[in-house]
Amino acid sequence: MSYLHVVDKKHSALPVGKVVCVGRNYAAHARELNNAVPDEPILFIKPSTAIVSMQAPISIPTQRGECHFETELAVLIGQPLTQGCTELQAQNVIAGVGLALDLTLRDLQQQLKGSGLPWEKAKAFDGACPLSEFISMDRVGNLQDQRIRLWQNGDLRQDGHTGEMLMPVLSLMVYVTQFFSLQPGDVLLTGTPAGVGSLKPKDKLKLSLSDLIEAIVRVV
Ligand code: ZN
Repeated sequence: MSYLHVVDKKHSALPVGKVVCVGRNYAAHARELNNAVPDEPILFIKPSTAIVSMQAPISIPTQRGECHFETELAVLIGQPLTQGCTELQAQNVIAGVGLALDLTLRDLQQQLKGSGLPWEKAKAFDGACPLSEFISMDRVGNLQDQRIRLWQNGDLRQDGHTGEMLMPVLSLMVYVTQFFSLQPGDVLLTGTPAGVGSLKPKDKLKLSLSDLIEAIVRVV
């Protein structure tokens, strides 16, 4: 993908940038993987080559162990945001809100983690970040009052609420800019609720953000 759009805003195409992600932003998810709940957010980045649309079938690596789904609220950045910004400024640069799958090669990630190595091979591969459509902030209202769900072949696997985030979205954006500037076209992934699991070829996923966004994703 070269550009990201906000569905209800015409002429809002943004060039695809980086994806900044946060690990363990929901305590229940940290616990399900036997990880400690962190004192400060764990950040990592997926490159622009990881971004694909959920509208086309997605392909997953099959040669490197389990590939897990993680359903996450995604924020599309519309204007630059740099170190020293306030939460109000952060709110004002949000161009759109959508859903993302933070695809993760879990076996490989565990190996890398165990060796104290970076996670990119497990998290940043081509196609590792399928994105839904983005809708404008005025349709979303309170970012911390949204329900995130994922069904795998009809079974509800993830059912979380953004109110459970350890660090809310706007604080997270301010935190991120202490390390990386955010640019138009960048996307922030805000962590996954509990219930992550393994994907298989031919899976059919349904993701929803409250009653605002629904995406059907097919795995080839
Ligand atoms: Zn994640």
